[in-house]
Amino acid sequence: MDNCIFCKIINGQVQAEFLHQDDEVTAFFDARPITPIHVLVVPNKHIASVNQLDTSNEGLLGHMIMVARALAFHFHLKESGYRLVINTGPDAGQSVYHLHLHLIGGEPMPFSVKK
Ligand code: 5GP
Ligand code: ZN
Repeated sequence: MDNCIFCKIINGQVQAEFLHQDDEVTAFFDARPITPIHVLVVPNKHIASVNQLDTSNEGLLGHMIMVARALAFHFHLKESGYRLVINTGPDAGQSVYHLHLHLIGGEPMPFSVKK
């Protein structure tokens, strides 16, 4: 996608601090971290959001989670904990329409999915 910031990061047109890249996914630090560790795990292929996924993407999603898990361990978050978040659509505050998994952690997080 021509005007997608994450496509530009993946293909090297825009700079980001890469933590991992393989045939399927790229992981890099979020430019505006909300926790001490804030990593984005992004499919190399442009997919706008969870809404565009189908069963052929199940392996990709599993891989995104396993890469995020490995990075969580790398950053010593295994015991302290971390969150994996995929914002989807306006109410969730999705701002970049290229699917991405947030790995956030490194301090207690005040908000919760519980009410
Ligand atoms: P969303 O709000 O769509 O769930 O998350 C998008 C994330 O992408 C935000 O946390 C934002 O800080 C991050 N982001 C937006 N533009 C860039 C960029 O150019 N580089 C990096 N590294 N992160 C970005
Ligand atoms: Zn894209």
